[in-house]
Amino acid sequence: MSIQKRLLFIYTIIFSAAFFLASSIVYWLPRNQLLAEIDQNLTALAATVRPENTILAPGGIFRITIPENLVTLETASTFMMIIAKDGDIVARSNNLSNYEAYLDPAGPRPEPEFSQVRHGKTLLRVLTMPLRTGQDGDEIVGYLQVARLLDTYESFNRLVFTALLIGFGAATASLILAVGLTPSLFKPLDDIATVARQITKADDLSRRVPDTGRTDEIGDLAQAFNQTLERLERLFQAQQRLMADVSHELRTPLTAVRGNIDLMKRMGETDPASLTIIQEEADRMARLVGDLLLLARADSGGLPLHMQPIELDDLLFEVYRRVRVLSETVNVVVTDIDQVRVMGDPDRLKQLFINLVHNAIKFTPDGGEVRLSLSKTELWARIVITDTGIGIPEADLPHIFERFYRVDKARSRSQGGSGLGLSIAKWIVEAHGGEIYVTSETGKGTTFAIALPVMTEKQPEETVESAVTENGRSTLRRLGTSRKRR
Ligand code: ADP
Repeated sequence: MSIQKRLLFIYTIIFSAAFFLASSIVYWLPRNQLLAEIDQNLTALAATVRPENTILAPGGIFRITIPENLVTLETASTFMMIIAKDGDIVARSNNLSNYEAYLDPAGPRPEPEFSQVRHGKTLLRVLTMPLRTGQDGDEIVGYLQVARLLDTYESFNRLVFTALLIGFGAATASLILAVGLTPSLFKPLDDIATVARQITKADDLSRRVPDTGRTDEIGDLAQAFNQTLERLERLFQAQQRLMADVSHELRTPLTAVRGNIDLMKRMGETDPASLTIIQEEADRMARLVGDLLLLARADSGGLPLHMQPIELDDLLFEVYRRVRVLSETVNVVVTDIDQVRVMGDPDRLKQLFINLVHNAIKFTPDGGEVRLSLSKTELWARIVITDTGIGIPEADLPHIFERFYRVDKARSRSQGGSGLGLSIAKWIVEAHGGEIYVTSETGKGTTFAIALPVMTEKQPEETVESAVTENGRSTLRRLGTSRKRR
């Protein structure tokens, strides 16, 4: 059963039950109260008629005291009738003067009883009760019937009935309307199912559910579905791009290796220059495969970090000692260094800083400078690596942390880069609970700033953003508005 039908079914049941309950209460409560009042009235009236105890004449003649006002009843709504023991009507109120039948046709009975009797168009509430005399009241000498017209009761009934009829009509109309309206309500759900089926059939992730402009849950669902599709499409495209990039990256060194082997074969001897190229290309492939493997393991959560307390200043000095010998033409300096303790994986952090400094040296012309600094705020350690190199164009900045992204493909490859270094750097920083920021200006230089949480007992209230930007020595400040947060 579809949700639509199920909803309608549930609503019909709930609505009918609620309607029935409400109607019953609206009908029965006032009705019973009204009848109880009338019955009380009749009982009070009947109590005024009393058989005289003592007078019980031979031949069944007896005397009864009837209040004068009861006999002379002229009103059209209250009636009284006295029936002898043998069933003859012996007295009646004036308003019954031509009336020969009992008020309640069922006639006399030994116990007081209320009944509802219809005479033509009029409805009467009748109390029939025996008139008793004797010492213990055990001798029945006749019967009394008092009655009231139930005209107010009837008009009440009619009113309630009309109200119920209108209520029922309105309920039915709204249900019919609901049946008519629900399909349009659920249309986006059908659309989602259709799009999902189309995607499965045609393998086409570019399809989307049409925008209904609705702000309710179903509109939300359609929007969320479209967002999911968009993300899936992007992931799918990224995966395809990755495949293409990996194949491309591997093809270049493989071609070089093959070419040099062919050359040596033709020459019939080993050529040291060719062997060097083969080795370099093999190293490049090994690096690429190693980086890819690392990222794949990081993606799947299979790359454990061996976290331990680290003196970040010592670690940075170690990095400095290793990288300063990388280039004789670019000057690597440490400008400021604070004592900072962080929790981290020393090997991964070293890899991160070496990667960034290596890039800085790689993209800085001769005579340039690469500066390292470490400062700290209450909760964050801030490492800044600045170079005076070629910089990164504004348009490329948002992409440089993407896999295989290179600003200048030819130059970067010629310098041994695969375009994976910054993706790995970003992963390492985020795996440590930190963030990495970059600012750059072409021709002037690039700054990478990293914030890592320091070891502290306190809860971090300070935001990572403020740690990177608020510090007085921030190079980010100086570089102005081009800071990109990735
Ligand atoms: P690669 O291994 O090619 O260097 P990365 O992921 O490390 O790849 O860097 C991506 C790209 O970002 C590089 O190709 C380069 O164009 C640019 N880049 C990274 N660091 C710097 C820097 N310090 N100065 C200028 N450009 C940089």
